[in-house]
Amino acid sequence: MDNILTPSMTVDEDIPTGNDPVLEAAGIELPTNNAKFVDPIHQEQLTSDNSLKHFKKSDFGLWYPYMDKSLLAKIDQFADEWIGPIKISPVKGAIGRKDRSGSMHNVKLTGKVRAIDLLLLVPAKYFGYRRMNKNELRAAYLIAKNIGFTGIGLYPNWLPYNGVHLDVRPLPQMEWASFSKFGGGPYIYNPAVAWA
Ligand SMILES: [Zn+2]
Repeated sequence: MDNILTPSMTVDEDIPTGNDPVLEAAGIELPTNNAKFVDPIHQEQLTSDNSLKHFKKSDFGLWYPYMDKSLLAKIDQFADEWIGPIKISPVKGAIGRKDRSGSMHNVKLTGKVRAIDLLLLVPAKYFGYRRMNKNELRAAYLIAKNIGFTGIGLYPNWLPYNGVHLDVRPLPQMEWASFSKFGGGPYIYNPAVAWA
């Protein structure tokens, strides 16, 4: 699985809402191919109006003005601590959404985007990058937990790289895993199953 280079089609829905799955599916567009790899170590520093070290405003596209500042600060810290590049999932819905769901991605809830889906890459032994193994996925969870994300979803089977959903929801916190390759659920509300 490590060398699959098909475009990511990952998209998740954080809270099951009973929305029509056909409508949900219709909202999923093929990923764009212009997603940027955000190298937390080597990326050029940002423009002066953005205090983030590891992300540029343009990484968030049209959603940038709606991004929750706490979310941005936390993912920047996450990038500080992660061992490899981080790629914002190129799938529609990986940053903001406008829908009827209770998802933290949904800007219509509070006017803010409070969730983001990230593909977490690991430097390969000799060249390039590879997917996280179970230990690395567990490490990602612990980093996210320590930083204080209140919603953490683990997606060990996302393609082409596996990754996480991170959000800053109001308490109570929610944590889950999903073994889906392409979509969100079904969800298992115990993240440890992802690295078991
Ligand atoms: Zn998500």
